[in-house]
Amino acid sequence: MDEAKLTRRGSLAGMAGFLLGLAGWKAAASEGAGPAGVASGAVSCVLTPEQTEGPYYIAGEKYRRDVTEGRSGVPLLLRLRVVDASTCKPIAGAAVDIWHADALGVYSGFGAGRRSRTFMRGIQKTDANGLARFRTVYPGWYQGRTVHIHVKVHVAGNVVHTGQLYFPDSLTDRVFRRRPYSRRPHRTTRNASDFVFANGGRRSMLSVRKSGSSYVGAITMGVNR
Ligand code: FE
Repeated sequence: MDEAKLTRRGSLAGMAGFLLGLAGWKAAASEGAGPAGVASGAVSCVLTPEQTEGPYYIAGEKYRRDVTEGRSGVPLLLRLRVVDASTCKPIAGAAVDIWHADALGVYSGFGAGRRSRTFMRGIQKTDANGLARFRTVYPGWYQGRTVHIHVKVHVAGNVVHTGQLYFPDSLTDRVFRRRPYSRRPHRTTRNASDFVFANGGRRSMLSVRKSGSSYVGAITMGVNR
């Protein structure tokens, strides 16, 4: 989530407090920071839900921005921001580790992708603003799962977050009408029927915008360090 959204969220919270009158103001102010603010939803650096790493994680991947290794697909730039969920401050120097299926629904290291252990996998360190950036392609689908990207966040060598990131289904439908995705129509599972998405997926949605011929997917992940 970007700064503009944080600001808008903040001003909405302020307006709600104003409308509630003085008592409301005090409540909003006391809820506005720290864990209470996170719990009340008054601040938007909420703790991002933990979700299973699933069966396809491979540790120790390469530090690199472009994880595609030339595989085809609709270009997707990821802007993944890591903040401390208790202070809302960015965490610099965190290692953000992503992995996902290629456009045809294949993971490197497994099944049809077993000859490589590296495509669509990589690690980037967050900058001073807590931001890690990747260049990849829109993931394909595989049996029984909605479209997703796996993520782990490591701080000082410890895993502080394991999650999955999701896309609006309407956007996925549009992207999947294009090649090479269109070679595999009739994906089985959408967000609403996905058994992992069911537990916190709505708080792990990428905010996606078009940028030229690419999409840019962004999210702020609140973690406990
Ligand atoms: Fe997966």
